[in-house]
Amino acid sequence: STMPPLLSAIANGARHGVLAKSAVVMERLGQIDVVALDKTGTLTEGTPRVTDVRPLPGGGLDEAALLRLAAAAEHPSEHPLARAVVAAARERGLAPPTATDFAALPGRGVAATVGGHRVRIGSPAQLTGDGVGLAEELAELAAAGRTVVVVERDGVPVGVLGVADRARADAAATVAAFTALTGRAPVLLTGDHEPAARHLAAEVGITEVRAGLLPQDKVAAVRDWQARGHRVLVVGDGVNDAPALATAHCGVAMGGVGADLTLETADAVVVRDELAAVPAMVRLSRTARRLVV
Ligand code: ADP
Ligand code: MG
Repeated sequence: STMPPLLSAIANGARHGVLAKSAVVMERLGQIDVVALDKTGTLTEGTPRVTDVRPLPGGGLDEAALLRLAAAAEHPSEHPLARAVVAAARERGLAPPTATDFAALPGRGVAATVGGHRVRIGSPAQLTGDGVGLAEELAELAAAGRTVVVVERDGVPVGVLGVADRARADAAATVAAFTALTGRAPVLLTGDHEPAARHLAAEVGITEVRAGLLPQDKVAAVRDWQARGHRVLVVGDGVNDAPALATAHCGVAMGGVGADLTLETADAVVVRDELAAVPAMVRLSRTARRLVV
């Protein structure tokens, strides 16, 4: 074809299922030497399921009441964890009441008013500080590789939920492909807590894990590599990843439900739900650049 190499690489990439927004982006993809991957929705399928519903003593709620309260507060949220909680309530035939004053706290959780109570749901570290009083429940679920979220009512922890998400079928192959391309394994950047992050990392061949990160911490990690002369590729799926995607040499968003905000900030979008298409894009870019030079 007479098409310039970078443009034909874009067309080729689109066939693989990744849309690069410009020839400049296509070129940059071939320059990256550090890869940072988000966990939930990027390395995992992003369709987690609630596996454990544990009311805490003193909260006065049984399992059904806890799940109903949590589903009410999570209902307006697009987050994969929120969808899991809402689905779990529906499966048990629970009809959550309507929440008001909803607020999403990216990388932390949600807050809403349900039946006159202020409810917060989110990561143990963000909600409870040191997690005092929850330690036992958390340790047990965390050891099983679960993502654990705490449900608080009027400032008091009333329960914990364990959530499990599966690694994507092509996650390990993607990690291996990036490792071959850059000479170093990708790094996992996640807002989830360390045990769940380590569990998933081990499954897909990642050893370097940065857990418990807020959106701005993901940005700081990217800046840190950049300050040392690296060109970073970030792949993420959520609103919490948008600042890191914008900061990176290349930001690639997983397309999908609730991803609108991420798509705007990204340089390229994975439209066919195949993570392995991203290292394939890097390879296409390198080939095209060789043809340009
Ligand atoms: P990741 O970086 O793995 O994609 P997020 O940054 O989206 O994860 O979320 C980080 C953590 O914040 C989650 O593990 C969870 O503890 C908490 N969290 C975020 N959103 C929600 C939500 N809607 N409901 C409950 N917990 C949430
Ligand atoms: Mg995510």
